[in-house]
Amino acid sequence: MSLIPKSHPRAKSLFIREKLVTGFDRGLVAKEGLLAQGRGEAFDYLLGEKTGKSAKLALKAAAAQILLARSPVISVNGNTAALCPKEIIRLARLTGSKIEVNLFYANEKRKKAIVSVLKKNGAKEVLGTKTSSKATLSGIDSARRIVDKNGIFSADVVIVPLEDGDRTMALRKAGKVVITFDLNPLSRTAQTANITIVDNVTRAIDLLIENCKKLSKKNESSLNRILQNFDNKKNLSDNVKEIKNNLMRRLKIA
Ligand code: ATP
Repeated sequence: MSLIPKSHPRAKSLFIREKLVTGFDRGLVAKEGLLAQGRGEAFDYLLGEKTGKSAKLALKAAAAQILLARSPVISVNGNTAALCPKEIIRLARLTGSKIEVNLFYANEKRKKAIVSVLKKNGAKEVLGTKTSSKATLSGIDSARRIVDKNGIFSADVVIVPLEDGDRTMALRKAGKVVITFDLNPLSRTAQTANITIVDNVTRAIDLLIENCKKLSKKNESSLNRILQNFDNKKNLSDNVKEIKNNLMRRLKIA
């Protein structure tokens, strides 16, 4: 049971920390994952810990892109498995996406723990552990270059919550469309992905599911139109403006 009182002014943020610490204790999250959360939190604070207008636009574009995909894959790491395993599975089911575990700090024990959490939460199949279906992404040095040939390797669209820049670059070079959640609009991942949702994955994943449900009634040309009207570079710069406006408001400058 959580020791954090619901009335605490930073309760939501503390609950997220608690999930990650529990995930760490259960062998899902790497030490470095805790630090990555810290970097994310700082940007969330600057954003006012809410889903902004530009994040909502990116969510709509992401949903259109996933629905148009031939073979979408959700790439899961320790932080994602600790923060929102149920939602990942819901998104995968709704959109016919495959789920693949892919870790920056490769560790077979941790991989198994992540797969087991996903399965406990209802995942039927989790790719990324079979040696027989290993394939290699070029242009990347870390263990993340090893992917599943039936998953990320053959995907057209890859959803990578909380990614690192090198891998996003390698996925782009391999011709994949990359969708990411990243609270830092300035990170290499945010700047390299095709669609960057600048929001906390814990808030935004439910919104992505809702958008997918809503847009699943639209035809292909309406979905294509949504994508054509989305410009990631402009969206990132609007995110930075939202941060600036939020800070000005907080300081009562504007
Ligand atoms: P890059 O290599 O892309 O420049 P980085 O080195 O800054 O990234 P990493 O430590 O690899 O970042 O990954 C953490 C990233 O994930 C950070 O950009 C951080 O803002 C983001 N992040 C952390 N927690 C969350 C979260 N809960 N929701 C969304 N984004 C998050």
